[in-house]
Amino acid sequence: MEDCIFCKIAAHEIPSTVVYEDDQVIAFDDLNPQAPVHALVIPKEHYANICDGVPGETLAAMAHAVDEVVRAKGLTGGFRVITNTGADAGQTVMHFHMHVLGGCDLGEDLI
Ligand code: 5GP
Ligand code: ZN
Repeated sequence: MEDCIFCKIAAHEIPSTVVYEDDQVIAFDDLNPQAPVHALVIPKEHYANICDGVPGETLAAMAHAVDEVVRAKGLTGGFRVITNTGADAGQTVMHFHMHVLGGCDLGEDLI
């Protein structure tokens, strides 16, 4: 999709620090990390959010990418996966993404 920053990252038109990549998904470090480890997992195809008709195969590829991030970053103590969806959740980039957060005690403020 034109003017979508994450489509441009997926196409390597905008640089990012890639943690994992395959033909369907890419995982990269968040520009503004909220934890010692903060990566984003996105499908290379553009979907606005998790409810935008994302194929099961793509969701499975994203779950695999989360596992790859966890291994690459050594998150043996645990981690949190978040997907902000819509205005109430504060979604700012309208390309489906999963945050993978870890590397510290993440607290219990939200779920
Ligand atoms: P949201 O608030 O939509 O769930 O999260 C969007 C995330 O994308 C934010 O954590 C933000 O820091 C990250 N982000 C926005 N633009 C860029 C970018 O150009 N590169 C990278 N690596 N992360 C970005
Ligand atoms: Zn996009």
